[in-house]
Amino acid sequence: MASNLKVQKQLIHSKNILFIQDIDGVCIPLVKDPMTRKLESKYIYAVKEFAEEFFVLTCGEHEGPRGVNRIIERSLGCTTEPKKKELYLRGLAACGVEYQDNDGEISFEGVSEKELDFLSKVPSLIRPKFNLIVKNIFPELDQENINFHAAKSICQTRFSPTINFNSLFELVKKDSDKRKHIQISFEKMMNEIIYKAENEGLKNSFFLHISPNLGNENDREIIKLSTKTDIGSTDIQLLIKGAVKDSGVLFLLNKFIEIKTGKAPFGSNFNFRNSPKSVREKIDLCKRSIHKSDMPLIIGVGDTVTSKKNNGQKSYLRGGSDRSFLEFIQLLGNEFGINNKIIFVDSSSGEVERPSIKKTGLIGISDIYDKLKFDIVFKNGPKEYISWFIELAKKRSNFKKK
Ligand SMILES: [Mg+2]
Repeated sequence: MASNLKVQKQLIHSKNILFIQDIDGVCIPLVKDPMTRKLESKYIYAVKEFAEEFFVLTCGEHEGPRGVNRIIERSLGCTTEPKKKELYLRGLAACGVEYQDNDGEISFEGVSEKELDFLSKVPSLIRPKFNLIVKNIFPELDQENINFHAAKSICQTRFSPTINFNSLFELVKKDSDKRKHIQISFEKMMNEIIYKAENEGLKNSFFLHISPNLGNENDREIIKLSTKTDIGSTDIQLLIKGAVKDSGVLFLLNKFIEIKTGKAPFGSNFNFRNSPKSVREKIDLCKRSIHKSDMPLIIGVGDTVTSKKNNGQKSYLRGGSDRSFLEFIQLLGNEFGINNKIIFVDSSSGEVERPSIKKTGLIGISDIYDKLKFDIVFKNGPKEYISWFIELAKKRSNFKKK
């Protein structure tokens, strides 16, 4: 509590701050069916108060029937007001590919026509394979039921076609062996789609983003297999190579500084495709291009961070789709002598099983040797974060008016 108040004070009174915030599990409680997601309207107005000091960074998408923009419209009960009043969430979606301002205008530099074309075919490539896999695991299911689950599990999104396991997990209840069977079968199936892309000349175009995962090995994300106590990975997205959240931080930082100073430090054409790959190169790019006085205090907010003791060994497997960008923000702060803030929101109170801090502490999320340290932890999930955020927005905007 005391440290929370201290952080709040610092954020209210700093000259330059920048929120970079994940969406699902942070300001929207996790749900099994993404079509039922809800967002509090008060939160949307609070984001607006932060103005240029706030960006989202999510692996979901802004546009389309499953997009966050539809949630904003539902929440405000109107499809025209959000555009007119500029209330859409500005920032990057599809893990760093899809940018929008708060008027909802989308751009996606760095993606080729051929890639877009292949992505649009992915759901129809998944469908027959889904049929076979489900028939094999659930021989008793009739076609009508299989179609029902296909509609829930295959997400036809523009930049990140996804297979989600939640609906099939419902069928197996507590049977973690069956859950594992589902995870392994669909990971194999998604890899077949990558091979198909490669055969069509898209060799360096796509990769699989598994959520949550156990980190990387040989450039591939490690699936988190289900156990009796942890449901493990719940979805696999086919993403464009380079679409990773820590490159997204560079893109957003570039935009922020351009707005503030009139000059984009990495150039105005910078996007995820020309971002350096390693963390070290990313830090070096910042140190080369950004003047210390232009660097804001960055607040990174996420809910998907994992840590799992490697069986029998003393090491830990650390992953989670928010880990890389939070670690990057923390390290960037250290390098610039700015105490950037890392906020963790415990999303276990939603419909999707996640490790709960209230029940088991940081087990499954972090460990004592983890270099990622949280400045604030919201144990009570999105609800608690949102009310903190709304209060901060008010105080910050009063401070800026002075
Ligand atoms: Mg999340």
